Amino acid sequence: MFYHRKELFRPVSVGTPDAQFGQYLLEQFGGATGELTAALQYWVQSFHVENAAIRDMLQDIAIEEFNHLEMVGKLIAQHTAKIDQTDVYDAPLFQIKGGGPHFLDSSGSAWTATYIQEGGNVVRDLRANISSEAGARQTYESLIKRTKDEGTKAALVHLLTREITHANMFMKALDAMGKLEDPYFGNVPPDDTVDIVFNLSAGEDSRGPWNEKPFRYIENPQPQGGFPPPPVNPDDEKAKLTGVKKVAAAAE
Ligand code: MN
Ligand code: MN
Repeated sequence: MFYHRKELFRPVSVGTPDAQFGQYLLEQFGGATGELTAALQYWVQSFHVENAAIRDMLQDIAIEEFNHLEMVGKLIAQHTAKIDQTDVYDAPLFQIKGGGPHFLDSSGSAWTATYIQEGGNVVRDLRANISSEAGARQTYESLIKRTKDEGTKAALVHLLTREITHANMFMKALDAMGKLEDPYFGNVPPDDTVDIVFNLSAGEDSRGPWNEKPFRYIENPQPQGGFPPPPVNPDDEKAKLTGVKKVAAAAE
C-alpha cells in the first residue's frame, strides 16, 4: 500500500531563487545519481531478496529516497518559480519545459532505467547500493559548493548525510552476511587465478595490500594465450598484396 502525506519529510525553504541552480539540482531528481534512481533501485531489489530483514531495510530506505525525491523536487520548484527572460540563458531547460522538476539531468538528458543496478543476488545488489550512495553523496557535495542559499544548503547537507547513513546500513548488511570483506559470492567457484595480481602498468610502480601476500604478484606478466587463429571472413577482399615479407621479432 502506498499512502502519501502532504507534509514534507524535512523542511525545504529556498531564500533566493536561482533558476540556474535549479537546473543543477535536476542531477539529483532525474540524473544517474539522483533520488529517483535510488528509490526505484532499492524498491525493485526488495522484490527478489529472500532475507526478510534485508528486504525490510531495502523497503525502508527506498521510501526514504522517495521522500528525498520529493524534497529535491520542491527545491527545484522553488528555485524555478520565477523565471524571467534574464534567466533564459542560465536555465534553458525550464524555459522550454516550464518551472518545477522534470525527469531530466542537469544537462537535459532524460532519466533512464539503465541507471538502475539490481538483480540476481543480494550481495551484488548491496554492493551496487554502496556505489549508488557514494555517487549521490558526491553529487550533493558538488551542489552544496555551488549554492550560497542557506535554506538550500541545509536541505542538501541533510540529504548528503542520509546517503552516508544508507551506505553504512548497506555495509552493515554485507558484514552481517560475511560479505563485506569476502569478495566471493554466488555459486560458481573461481579458478586458480583468484589470488594472482598483475603488474600491467610499468614505471614508478607502487605496491599496497591489494598486491602483497597472500596475493601472488606477477612482476612481469607474459601472455599465456598463444596466438589466436586468424579471422575467417568469406566476404573480405581477397586481393594479394605485393611487397609483404614476414619479419622475425626483434630481440630485446
Ligand atoms: Mn537520497
Ligand atoms: Mn540513499
